[in-house]
Amino acid sequence: MIEFKGSKERDDYAQLGTKHPKLLDLLIDLAECVELMFKKPIVLTSVHRSQDEQDALYAAGGNKAPKSAHTTWEAVDLRDKIYTAHEIKFIEGYLNTKYKNDNKKPVCFNHTISGNVNHFHVYLQR
Ligand SMILES: [Zn+2]
Repeated sequence: MIEFKGSKERDDYAQLGTKHPKLLDLLIDLAECVELMFKKPIVLTSVHRSQDEQDALYAAGGNKAPKSAHTTWEAVDLRDKIYTAHEIKFIEGYLNTKYKNDNKKPVCFNHTISGNVNHFHVYLQR
């Protein structure tokens, strides 16, 4: 099951099929896997961000905004606090083993934005 932090994430997700179908397929695959293994959903906490939204998010933490794959529809964030440490490791391993980026950047890693909770950043090149 795929759940959403709010209506913006739900609306963004509805556009993913045209913006980046491969990333949509990855999310459907992951949601099925996590349901089967752990009887839990995946929860999208962020999909698309404009560069202005990206700058504002990082300015709040006092950091300069890095160039983000969220601005090109190539990344989504997933809530991680609903999983155990073991489940988090499994999800990272599953995505990074099954999916690869040509630029060698990891498909999935756990990270923190200042003032925000930890989450999975899931990145897939077009
Ligand atoms: Zn992210």
